[in-house]
Amino acid sequence: MSISVDSAAGQAVKAADRAHVFHSWSAQALIDPLAVAGAEGSYFWDYEGNRFLDFSSQLVNTNIGHQHPKVVAAIQEQAGKLCTFAPAFAVDVRSEAARLIAERTPGDLDKIFFTNGGAEANENAIRMARLHTGRQKVMSTYRSYHGATANAIALTGDPRRWANETGVSGIVHFWGPYAYRSQFHAENEAQECERALAHLEATIAFEGPQTVAAIILETVVGTAGILIPPAGYLAGVREICDRFGIVLILDEVMAGFGRTGAWFAADHWEVVPDLLTFAKGVNSGYVPLGGVAISGAIAETFAERPFPGGLTYSGHPLACASAVATINAMAEEGIVEHARHLGETVIGPGLRELADRHPSIGEVRGLGVFWALELVKDRATREPLTPYNAAGPAAAPMAELAAACKRRGLWPFVNMNRLHVVPPCNSSGAEVKEGLAILDEVL
Ligand code: PLP
Repeated sequence: MSISVDSAAGQAVKAADRAHVFHSWSAQALIDPLAVAGAEGSYFWDYEGNRFLDFSSQLVNTNIGHQHPKVVAAIQEQAGKLCTFAPAFAVDVRSEAARLIAERTPGDLDKIFFTNGGAEANENAIRMARLHTGRQKVMSTYRSYHGATANAIALTGDPRRWANETGVSGIVHFWGPYAYRSQFHAENEAQECERALAHLEATIAFEGPQTVAAIILETVVGTAGILIPPAGYLAGVREICDRFGIVLILDEVMAGFGRTGAWFAADHWEVVPDLLTFAKGVNSGYVPLGGVAISGAIAETFAERPFPGGLTYSGHPLACASAVATINAMAEEGIVEHARHLGETVIGPGLRELADRHPSIGEVRGLGVFWALELVKDRATREPLTPYNAAGPAAAPMAELAAACKRRGLWPFVNMNRLHVVPPCNSSGAEVKEGLAILDEVL
């Protein structure tokens, strides 16, 4: 890591940013973005010489850390051979990326439609589901994030949807399971599961099963809380979908490619969706890439009939080369198994130990390198440390907590009253322990 101090360069980067870059999800005048000078593995640093342990994996996408040498080399090599080519052609790295992904997805999800990211993957998944079923409605959960394009933000349950709503979406929201804050007054996980499935079935009955094209779920809900489905829930949703001819879409944009300690989170519950969407971890975001893995039956719908969708950069060679190198590196280096082991032996036990000492921790939940601390004012009442609010900067005291982490060299992922612990899947045990020690001090 070549970390040096060059304040003038940092200020110039920041001045140009403030003059010309329009930032996502932000009031432009109220933000003060960090000027990043470099990154390697689980760390990045600024122009002032401050180094940060990346406990956010950026937006939970750098599953293999920053600047993995095998992936950087593959992008450089591909750039020298073929930078771009239209999706209608067969290109070696595109075919190879599709093969490697299809080999890892569950069941017969053997055809891959490439996109530039997660939202576009979900847009195209619901397009496929609507055309396959001839129905229009799509159902999704209130606690979810599915992306920021027109349909993806309408599918999203979290408050970022509110300002984007048109009022005519064809999307119906329902409550998924969340035992800690049960919507169904359940007293345990089994009851939560049973009641959540009954609620879903009742919602479908009143919507009209013959009008519902698809149910889309994050296999493990990510940004909206890292909510692990109770045993039997996903199998129950699969059964309901089969009974009513509804397409099951699992959104694994955040949970896929090692994050949960499996190639796909669906593997933990042995559930096979009809469509599975991915992005982020497929190539750790080194070049924009996402996609939809498609079942045989849905692929067949478009065997003789054209699929009415496409993107200029679908299966972009640089993105596909980086995916091939990422997946191969993950397999060669045992990164998925490592993520599972980190969760079981370091992160889970470490966070539970923090909960023993800090009464502000209401619940610890997660698996692999996908964990959340839910912070509360009072453990007995479970009142959240900050209220459920609209998208925007973290409210006090979460903003202070984030600032205190940063002052100590830890870059956290904070959302509402939760602190998500989501380091790269190949972080070392020592790095994770370094981060947990900082959290201990800050809490
Ligand atoms: N789906 C899930 C579960 C996500 O977490 C995200 C992004 O965080 C998306 C979809 C949207 O992906 P993108 O930002 O690449 O469009």
